Amino acid sequence: MRKLQMVDLKSQYEKIKETVDSSIQEILENTTYINGPHVHAFQKNLETYLGVKHVIPCANGTDALQIAMMGLDLKPGDEVITADFTFAATVEVVGLLQLTPVLVDVEMDTMNISIEALKKAITPKTKAIVPVHLFGRAANMDAIMQIAKEHNLYVIEDNAQAIGANYTHADGSKTKAGVIGHVAATSFFPSKNLGCYGDGGAIFTNDDALAHRIRGIVNHGMYERYHHDVIGVNSRLDSIQAAVLDAKLPFLDTYSAARRLAAFNYNKAFENNPNLGTPAFDMEGDDHVFHQYVMRVTNGQRDALLAHLQAAGIPCAIYYPIPLHSQKAYADTRYKEEDFPVTNQLVKEVIALPMHTELDEEQITFITSTINTFLNA
Ligand SMILES: *Cc1c(COP(=O)(O)O)cnc(C)c1O
Repeated sequence: MRKLQMVDLKSQYEKIKETVDSSIQEILENTTYINGPHVHAFQKNLETYLGVKHVIPCANGTDALQIAMMGLDLKPGDEVITADFTFAATVEVVGLLQLTPVLVDVEMDTMNISIEALKKAITPKTKAIVPVHLFGRAANMDAIMQIAKEHNLYVIEDNAQAIGANYTHADGSKTKAGVIGHVAATSFFPSKNLGCYGDGGAIFTNDDALAHRIRGIVNHGMYERYHHDVIGVNSRLDSIQAAVLDAKLPFLDTYSAARRLAAFNYNKAFENNPNLGTPAFDMEGDDHVFHQYVMRVTNGQRDALLAHLQAAGIPCAIYYPIPLHSQKAYADTRYKEEDFPVTNQLVKEVIALPMHTELDEEQITFITSTINTFLNA
């Protein structure tokens, strides 16, 4: 059996090695390290793939979130609602910009922001909602856009984990995750579904004026060379990373399909295991791109399973072990434990199994039979 890994970037690289190596060589020869032709080409190709007017590349996904919020001109004290069960980057940039983060609970079946909790959290100070498309599945965007419209709020999609996923609207039409809200942020961190070989990120929007503001913000607030109209940042995607991403983009749908097939095989193997809650999804559709395969261990044996798998040489992880409202940096007297029943349960039950584009059936059979034997013993 091939070595089990949480993410197997080496095997993926070997399949695109020629294109990647020759593009990198070309950049080295031309010394077009910054803002070279590969950055522009990748930006255009990603705009076409997503069906969005503007992609603005930047240095990483956390910057992308921060810059999106700067572009919307949110002011200190404005409240930004996001999910309690996610990676900290979202709430971190809200805090850095002196906006007020408002964490709300998530839904058990999708692990995405709870629409009921979101509605309850809206106050006259609320200015934006940040749905996180967690683990590769878009949040309930129809409901979120409706709420945003009623209350005149911005929607900033955190699409770091769901690039390539589709969202199916109530009327059956489909839109790519990340092009539904007013603006979106994504990450090209190596292990993300579209990852480069270092750090990278991007902002997407269909709003021409916002795109123009953001293009200045990523470049020190300059709209004309050496004229600084607003306070900006320095956040660039470098040419080598853009070349890697441009080599991978044509394969993104194939990568998503490989992840979905792995998830399907996991689910099938766990079908008769009463101690697991597996992620429901439609294999015919394309709404879940499985950045992570996260399931729930419902018999209280999560930590025991984690230890057992680690001892058996099967990599696994807990995404996420601590709710954001319980983190020292984000604690707030406004939060009450009873407002977060789902997140508080998820942090005790979730476990993530190896998930990447190169998983084969032999590996999945080994992983799933080890888990089934342990939990049903
Ligand atoms: C990875 C990630 C980010 C941050 O991306 P970086 O490129 O690492 O800064 C933000 N939000 C979520 C949900 C993520 O998974």
